[in-house]
Amino acid sequence: MATTKSAPAGRIGIDWAGLGWMFLFFWYFSGVTQTLIALSGVAGLQGLRQASMASALWLIPLLLFPARTRLLAGVIGTILWLCSLSGFGYFLVYGQEFSQSVIFIMFESNVSEATEYLGHYFSWSIVFAAVAYGLGGWLLWRKVRPVYLPRQMTLAACLLLFGLSMGYEAVRQYIKRDDLQRAVDEFEENIEVASPWQLAVGYHQYRRQLGNMEGLLASQEQIPPLKNLVDAHAGQPSTLVLVIGESTNRQRLSLYGYSRPTTPNLDKLRGELQVFDNVVTPRPYTIEALQQVLTFADQEHPNLYLSTPSLVSVMKQAGYKTYWITNQQTMTKRNTMLTTFSKQADEQFYLNNNRDQNTTSQYDGDVLDPFAKVLADDAPRKFVVVHLLGTHMRYHYRYPEEFDHFTDRSGVPASVTDDQLPTYNSYDNAVLYNDYVVSSLIERFRATDPSGFLLYLADHGEAVFDAPDPKVLGRNEGAPTSPMYTVPFILWSSPKWQAQQQARDFTASLHRPYSSSHFIHTWADLAGLRFDEFDPSKSLVSAEFRERPLLIGNPQQPKSLIDFSLIKPKKPVDQDADLVQQEREAKDRTM
Ligand SMILES: [Zn+2]
Repeated sequence: MATTKSAPAGRIGIDWAGLGWMFLFFWYFSGVTQTLIALSGVAGLQGLRQASMASALWLIPLLLFPARTRLLAGVIGTILWLCSLSGFGYFLVYGQEFSQSVIFIMFESNVSEATEYLGHYFSWSIVFAAVAYGLGGWLLWRKVRPVYLPRQMTLAACLLLFGLSMGYEAVRQYIKRDDLQRAVDEFEENIEVASPWQLAVGYHQYRRQLGNMEGLLASQEQIPPLKNLVDAHAGQPSTLVLVIGESTNRQRLSLYGYSRPTTPNLDKLRGELQVFDNVVTPRPYTIEALQQVLTFADQEHPNLYLSTPSLVSVMKQAGYKTYWITNQQTMTKRNTMLTTFSKQADEQFYLNNNRDQNTTSQYDGDVLDPFAKVLADDAPRKFVVVHLLGTHMRYHYRYPEEFDHFTDRSGVPASVTDDQLPTYNSYDNAVLYNDYVVSSLIERFRATDPSGFLLYLADHGEAVFDAPDPKVLGRNEGAPTSPMYTVPFILWSSPKWQAQQQARDFTASLHRPYSSSHFIHTWADLAGLRFDEFDPSKSLVSAEFRERPLLIGNPQQPKSLIDFSLIKPKKPVDQDADLVQQEREAKDRTM
């Protein structure tokens, strides 16, 4: 009898089961994660359908070179498995679908940041799951066998498979969209659910963004000046300081009522401070938040940062000499956006040139010397930005040993487990050190008897086993909890400045619900600047202030934006959520 290898041209016995195993093998590397996502209810079935279609592509080489089926399947399968691990692992840790913004953060982090991140979320159970997942692929690979088709049928099948996996979607988008770039974006978005396109598409999109950002500096120079700029303090000497913190949730500051004394120095200064207690960030990520805080962009107009002046530019136009002191890494690609803003300043102090963000020699106290130097500069009008590393993870790298103050259970909520306790305590210690840095900046500033003010706010918060979701650690826009958004916002103003202002009264402003996305209006108001772009209803300290929804979420998907008050505490009773929680707990144990 003739074997199936040489099926006669007339009657063809197609090995459907063989084709089925091939497809199942390739589908496995995208389908498993997509199935988990669909089952958990995080997203619908669309991703699963797209992943299934895109997986059909890999049958083509196997049909073209049937004699090499096992080798080709092995090589392609290994690549698909490796590329799919990030999405698989991300789902296990977060219970969320790997998104483009995660990929951005991945590419924009340097090696040390990535290692830090892995350390934060590493657990043996995830390694075990990844190996088991690979083992499943290997078992399927053993089932893959050559399928021989007659030559003409092979070509027809390959065309069909290509059309199904790529061609149809490409043509559809090309016809549907009026511009090619948009069609490419949509096409990429559709295939990116499948391994290995996730990473390839992410990288391509990231390179495009980077190009945009590099163009930003050039375009900032083209932006027309503010219209009808009037300065209430024109011609008078003044020094205005903006301190930008990092990953600090105000719930953990005793200044905001936290039971542990984490801000003893600011507590002492309380009488000289205006403490605003209802400010939230629009986004829980540094760049995404500061892109709005430092420009006229907000959640409803996310791209305005491209066409309107930044805060540095505003202050320069008002005649201030501008300084940028940062303890954040600036040479990483992730910080391109911030580097762009900083480069607009007249003078920069880039303190953190370490390759590794986690060193025991790069504390925020390093900003104090350059700050003193800037204060001593004889320019009459100065605008100083101080950008701190604050309480960014990993927390125990943020403070020197003498600030290792909170080490036991006292003042810790009962919900914090023994395994979580060291992390919980190290965050409080980081807040304690941050208190020292911020209060030292205020004291050094005060010592120069300036005319001006210092404003401190954090870029975003951080969840460190805080109520009302005591199991959550870190930040995730896809699964928001309130501690990720609530930030400290305090103002110290000098007696000289207050005298000039005829003792401005802030009592009406202190509890106003406010999004830091409108910060530039508050700053301009405080600085006594008026211009056509200024909107007093967006100023926290204006009599004309108007309450607005505190929009959070990704503004590139406007429908996904929600009001901060609509964040619901996560229900741990949900079975799938429980699974994720167990993973999280396993991860925490390894820290
Ligand atoms: Zn940040």
